[in-house]
Amino acid sequence: MLGLGLIGGSVMRAAAAAGRDVFGYNRSLEAVQAAVADGFDASEDLDGTLARAAAGNALIVLAVPVPALTQLLGRIRETAPGCPLTDVTSVKTAVLQEVQSFGLLERFVGGHPMAGTAHSGWAAGNARLFVGAPWVISVDDHVDPGVWTLVMDLALDCGAVVVPARSDEHDAAAATISHLPHLLAEALAATAGEVPLAFALAAGSFRDGTRVAATAPDLVRAMCEANAEELLPVLDRALDLLHHARDALAEHKPLTDIVETGHAARIRYDNFSRPEIVTVVVGEDRWREELAAAGRAGGVIRSALPALGSRG
Ligand code: NAD
Repeated sequence: MLGLGLIGGSVMRAAAAAGRDVFGYNRSLEAVQAAVADGFDASEDLDGTLARAAAGNALIVLAVPVPALTQLLGRIRETAPGCPLTDVTSVKTAVLQEVQSFGLLERFVGGHPMAGTAHSGWAAGNARLFVGAPWVISVDDHVDPGVWTLVMDLALDCGAVVVPARSDEHDAAAATISHLPHLLAEALAATAGEVPLAFALAAGSFRDGTRVAATAPDLVRAMCEANAEELLPVLDRALDLLHHARDALAEHKPLTDIVETGHAARIRYDNFSRPEIVTVVVGEDRWREELAAAGRAGGVIRSALPALGSRG
């Protein structure tokens, strides 16, 4: 594990609880000491950790914000270029391009566990953070079936359900269900913060609608700015709906459009089913396309799929 914050620290705890041999690096001594005090194998020596990973051909998990990737990938290229590599970053295309620029694409399969809290750091992590949560694993054209299986096994060991998706499709969806909510939460919190008495009256709607605005600003900026291309069209769509609502209010017309459309979409989400993907064999002809199509249709992997060459 490279990065022992909320996500890296939670993966470390969950992987260890599943019986895996896991060791990690963190740049701050404080977090390393806290992890060690909790009984984990952690170090602030990046090169030493990478050399150990290279010696054991360990699966390396990048669990740092986007701006920190450049430095870590440079060191991986030097010390552990042959290790299978994954990440937990909230954007996928930008990371894919970064990994490619370091010549590490061949052994890389991107990942994104869709779970978190507004807190940061080792102390915020917990072994059950990913239980039942979707964990996106990329099925881009280049991905190697062996590495893909390693990443799938890690996600399943952490209690997640695996959603296979292409990086570009992940980013378009994540823009809508994660990055746009962050911007709307910030706007909502900022607006209420300017109205006297608002905080005194605030209850469930405000708390739920602004929950993610409590996230560390650097993390929010890192994920929204790195996904600007996909975020812009969905932000335009949301602004369009709000502008229509504004016009309706100004003209004393009913708010039918935004309220009916939003309500219907939310009910569809509440009834959204997640069929289990069971028929795909990882590594077989067109396995990436089949997984991408199944993921697009809402399918999830709940138990390890067979891999070509590992059957009977
Ligand atoms: P965090 O702040 O809790 O942890 C970040 C970790 O990165 C820390 O260990 C920190 O020491 C390390 N780090 C930061 N800059 C570094 C640098 N320049 N060099 C070396 N290490 C550095 O954050 P987190 O929530 O665990 O986020 C980590 C990743 O997980 C991010 O890419 C984020 O997009 C992704 N993610 C976050 C959430 C969430 O809800 N917070 C959910 C899913 C994925």
